[in-house]
Amino acid sequence: MSFHATVLTLYPEMFPGPLGLSLAGRALDEGIWKLKTVQIRNFAVDRHRSVDDTPAGGGAGMVMRADVLARAIDHSLEKDDPRPRLLMSPRGKTLTQKRVRELAAGPGVLILCGRFEGVDQRLIEARRLEEISIGDYILSGGEPAALVLLDAVIRLLPGVMGNENSGITESFEHGLLEHPHYTRPQEFEGRRIPEVLTSGNHAHIEAWRRQEAERLTRERRPDLLPEPDQGQTK
Ligand code: SAH
Repeated sequence: MSFHATVLTLYPEMFPGPLGLSLAGRALDEGIWKLKTVQIRNFAVDRHRSVDDTPAGGGAGMVMRADVLARAIDHSLEKDDPRPRLLMSPRGKTLTQKRVRELAAGPGVLILCGRFEGVDQRLIEARRLEEISIGDYILSGGEPAALVLLDAVIRLLPGVMGNENSGITESFEHGLLEHPHYTRPQEFEGRRIPEVLTSGNHAHIEAWRRQEAERLTRERRPDLLPEPDQGQTK
């Protein structure tokens, strides 16, 4: 059974976009994952086919209407649809490799892409949407965020990556950033490949990579390392 993604958006033309190329594109052609886009505007009912309205309480911008979005979601779900229902949102929990793995192990996702100032809060509650952010910055819409999430998930689906191993040593999979990489030529603008990597000694190479991964993580992302023991820090 293939991974089934349904994306609700005002811009279905943005999909599959970059996911139609390379690994994800090939996997789409092979049926490893399926993509359905739903044009939210088709579920507007008024004369102007409006999907948004002014914010209650006043202020700038527009808010996506709960009733229109609810119809779009209900239409897109199958009976007893087990898929997580996601809302791309800067207020959500930041996406992690752990959540990506969980999603990849599941039946698929339904993703709602916000626009304007976002969506009516009652819709989020009534349809129990899981809000997911891709980072602490504001995009103009949820579509690029949905593409990011799907890209991260699809590469983990069985049969998508050529070398099954390359998903395992990657940054974050062991709570560390990955070690640096090198390839030919031996010398580039006076810089040589670290000697240990050309030594052929696999134990030394492994130890070096581990050390470098720990060093980089300490320098750049100390937040990823386990908390130091309380008593020892003082
Ligand atoms: N007014 C909102 C931002 C709206 S941006 C706020 O301040 O929180 C418009 C839409 O873009 C959002 O509804 C969401 O779907 C998407 N979006 C923007 N930034 C995002 C992010 N960092 N992660 C995921 N989705 C994002």
